[in-house]
Order: sequence, then structure tokens, then C-alpha cells
Amino acid sequence: MEEGARSCLLLSRSSLEQDIRASYLMDHMISDGVLTGDEEDRIRSKLTRREQATALLELLLRKDNQAYISFYNALVRESYGDLASLLHNSLPLVSPEAEKSFSDGGTRYVQAVLSEGGVPQRPVVFVSRSALVNRVREKLYRLQKEPGWVTVFGMAGSGKSVLAAEAVRDHALITGRCFPGGVHWLSIGQLDRADLLVRIQSLCFRLEQQSQEKDPSSSLHRPPGSLEEAKERLRFLMLRRYPRSLLVLDDIWDSSVLKAFDIQCRVLLTTRDRSLADCVSGSKSEVAVESGLEEDQALEILALYVNGKPQRLPEQARSIVRECKGSPLVVSLIGALLREFPDRWAYYLHTLQQKKFKRIRKSSSYDYDALDQAMAASIQVLSEEHRELYIDLTVLEQDVKVPAKVLSVLWDLELEEVEDVLQDFVNKSLLFRDCHHRPYLYYLHDLQLDFLTEMNRSGLESLHTKVVRQYQQRYSQGPPTSGDEECLYWFRFLTYHMAKANLTQELYSLMFSLDWVRTKAQIMGPAHLINDYVEYGAILDKEFSKLFMVVVCSRNKSSLKSLSRLVVQPHQGSIYSACFSHDGTKIASCGSSKTLRV
Ligand code: ADP
Repeated sequence: MEEGARSCLLLSRSSLEQDIRASYLMDHMISDGVLTGDEEDRIRSKLTRREQATALLELLLRKDNQAYISFYNALVRESYGDLASLLHNSLPLVSPEAEKSFSDGGTRYVQAVLSEGGVPQRPVVFVSRSALVNRVREKLYRLQKEPGWVTVFGMAGSGKSVLAAEAVRDHALITGRCFPGGVHWLSIGQLDRADLLVRIQSLCFRLEQQSQEKDPSSSLHRPPGSLEEAKERLRFLMLRRYPRSLLVLDDIWDSSVLKAFDIQCRVLLTTRDRSLADCVSGSKSEVAVESGLEEDQALEILALYVNGKPQRLPEQARSIVRECKGSPLVVSLIGALLREFPDRWAYYLHTLQQKKFKRIRKSSSYDYDALDQAMAASIQVLSEEHRELYIDLTVLEQDVKVPAKVLSVLWDLELEEVEDVLQDFVNKSLLFRDCHHRPYLYYLHDLQLDFLTEMNRSGLESLHTKVVRQYQQRYSQGPPTSGDEECLYWFRFLTYHMAKANLTQELYSLMFSLDWVRTKAQIMGPAHLINDYVEYGAILDKEFSKLFMVVVCSRNKSSLKSLSRLVVQPHQGSIYSACFSHDGTKIASCGSSKTLRV
């Protein structure tokens, strides 16, 4: 059901519950085919009129636009005119003409499907690359008959993700015979096996949750414990619960990651590496994304940012586009700056022409110069105070999204103040916001992070130390236990910050504090916990000659198996244990050991 209709139902819920007699309305809804006999029986089994009304509304909220319309018509027919009028303004549009008139190209239905599947919205300033979009759509239509892969490749910042999201924003593709099972978006980026497992876990959770909303008799399973298990779970979900749906894998770097999705489903992937799909089986096709926009389109972006017409832009506009070779990312970064300072055309052109970041040019196969120049210009316009805060973001790991609360700890500022600062960064295209989550999550584009890391190379250790000290100050009484996004961040990344800050003694104490280990195991499961020992074992070994050993026990053998350096063996009946020592083998000669059951 589209957002407006659902919201209206929720707002009118108490009035509806108070008055309606579900048994009168259900007859109409059954004859409209939006309610089944079983569903009616379940509602009728409730004892009181009010309970039946509540159950009907609960069910209705999980249904589609047609159900909303049928319910509205039933209200009218049963003389609940006053209640029907509450729902009238949010009646979904169903006629093809009305649907087509929806302004951004996608119908409300398409928007609802994409939003449910986590597909990002269009950027605020957007130009259509219709030839490219059509090329991707044409490849997607070929997946109608059989599973396969469509690879969208091109350099960083060339607009691959925006293009992929735009290609699926298509009524015919989603409602026709192509992907009636929906579109499910997964942002990947550079990640290790443990992180990949977490991503697939959350995708499985999302799919199971949505499927449970549609069919309450299906159950939610515990998260898969290993990559192999996760792959099988996803295969089952895509085959049985979401047949003929499209999985979009955004920003894939590694073929081993892609193999985890080699489950005979329909996949659209974006990557910089054209050959990535060579490692997977099934039919394949590809679309190349040019690194730059046509001059007209790039000028249109600048014009949209400054609310002007492309023909009226100053002469420097053309030079800026030429200088950055029409890179969509750079043009939008400069555009965002110009929105703040519309008189600075010459200044930004000059800045682009003057800045040189030779190291990145050398170390990369792409020509990132223009981007880095734009980045420097973006940072320069921040106030001194905001610039310092922005530099603190250098410590974020690539592709990690953080809630504002983490930054409120890092910056020691009130949450609202932090949100204001982040809003400023987002407005200036210096930071991205994922609006599909509540609370919002924030992340840097990987090139922005590259740039920050390069700029602050000599200060990295102290920036990470700052994170650790701020955490310690906020959580002096013990680690957070709320299990929310902020808490998860600390459990995932505190060790990472300590390692980067070279705080080995503190890293050692943390990783062998039973309090921390127990809470982390409870909140995140064994795989993440053990991964820390694998990841930082070498650092600890260098510093401490004493051997150590950790034994993690689990009833679920496969959850431990995902970690390559571990020896997993039977341990007390049905419990399995994974032992990790400084070199992964000499477990018998350990000087100390701690055992934890999870
Ligand atoms: P990639 O995935 O290739 O790294 P993105 O798709 O993330 O690149 O695009 C980078 C930035 O470029 C976006 O955040 C947006 O600001 C800008 N951009 C890309 N495509 C368009 C477009 N069609 N219209 C306007 N801006 C765009």
C-alpha cells in the first residue's frame, strides 16, 4: 500500500476502531477479492466487535492499494460516510493516466515497491541520461525469461548507482512480467567476509520480515551464522518467497563477494571492474557508463543548483565542466557550493585549475584530480569549526554508515547540534544521508574518504585516539547495552579505532575484558567476536609475548566455521568450540585461556 494511504489509515485508526463493524465490511472486501475466507475466519474468531475491528485494520495495513480502495467502498456502502470521508483524500491513484501523471517518472506504486526494497531516491538535482537508462532497462527486460546478471560498470563518481536506481524506477519493469517479486537493493562496497555476512543477514531479515507482513503464518528465522548458510538462506528466499525479483548489488569490488550471490537469481550490479561477473555462472550482459556527462547535461546540473537557465550561466561554467570532464560527482559538488555562493564561478574554476593532488593521480588508474580539487574547494568553504569536525570523519571505515549519535559522542555535542552540522555537510554534498533508516545514517562517498585520508595522513593516529578517548569518556561506567545502531557501531569498530590509534595495551585489555566479550557476543553473535581476534591477533602478538587463547562455544557449528584460522571441534556433547591462539595452531601450549559460551 502506498505511503499516503497507509499513513491516513494509521491516523484514522482510533475513529475506525471505535465505530466499524468488521463483519459488515468483510463481505464486500471478499467479493472484491482483497480478503480471503481464512482471513475472515481469523477476524471473526475475535470475541468483541472492537477486537474484530482492530484485527481487520491490522490486516488491511499489510495489504495493497486495492484493499484500501475496497475498504473505502465498503465503508460507503455500509453508510459509514463520515469515516469514509476520513480516507477519501488519500485514495490511491489507480487509473493508468493518473499514474502516469506522477511527476518524477515513477508511479506511487513504483515508489512504494522501491522504497520497500531499499532503492535510493533520486538525487535532489537530477538530469536524465535516457539513452543510458534505456540501455540498462533493455538488458533488464532480458532477465524476464531466465536468471542472469547485468553489470553496470564505470569509474567512481560516474553515476552508476544513480543510473541503476533510475533504471528500476519503471512501472512496466516492476508491474509487468519482469520483476513482480520486487526490487531489493544492497549496498556492498569494500568489505571483508564478516561484514559481508552481516549485510546478507540484514537482507535476509528484511526479506523475511516483509514476507511475514504479507503472510503472518511464515516465521522469522534466526540470522544465518556463516556465509555458506547465508547464501543458502538467500537462495531459498529468492526462489520460494521472491521468485522473479531483482537483486541490485551496488558497488561490488571483489569477485569473492559476488560469488556469495551466485544463487541463480536476477542481479543488477554496479562496479568499477568490468570483468567481475566472469567468476559467476549464468547469462551475463553489461552496460558501460561514460565517466562524464554531455556538456549540456553538466551545465543543466549547474543551472539547477543555482536556479538559473543553462543559457544564462556565466562563461566560467563551461570551463568548469571542461576542467572536470563532466564528472557527475564533481559537477554536483561544485553546484552545491555555488548554491551557497552564487558569485564564486571564477573562484571555483580557479581552484579547480590550481589544485594538484599528484599522489592520487599516481596511485590510481583513474584520473581523480578533478574530484579531489572539487573536494578541497568544498572543504574550504566550511567554517573553521565545521572543517575540524569534518576532518574527524577521516576515521570512518569505507562504506560504513553511522547514526548521528556516534558523532555526538565523538564531537561531544548535543544530538540536535550534531544533526545540524550533518545537515550542513549533506547540503554541501560533502556527506550522504541514507533516508531509508530511522534514525538517519550518514556516510562519505569513498572518494571523499580517500581524499580525507590523504589530506590527514600524518594525523590519523591522533584522530583515532580522539575517538577512543571520547568513547571512554562517554561510557566510563561500561559499554553501551542498548543494541541500537550507535551501540552496534561501538561493538563493531571500537577495536578498529584502538588498533589504528596504536593503543595496543588498551586493545589487549578490551579484547580480554569478559564484560566486553560477553556483551559483544550477546549483541553481535560469535562470528564478529572471533573476527576481532583474527584481525588483531598479529598486533597483540607483536606487543605481548605471552600466548593467549580464546575458546568460543556455540551450538551452531557453522557459525564458527566462517572464520578461516579457527579450529572448530566437538566440545562437550552438542556444543562446538572454536579455539584461536596467537598462531592459530599451538593451542596446547597456551599460557592463559578464557572460555565463553554463546
Ligand atoms: P558511482 O556509483 O559511479 O560512484 P554515483 O551514482 O554514486 O556514482 O554518483 C555520484 C554523484 O554524482 C551522485 O551523488 C550525484 O550527486 C551525481 N550524479 C550522478 N548521476 C547524476 C544524474 N543523473 N543527475 C544528477 N546528478 C548525478
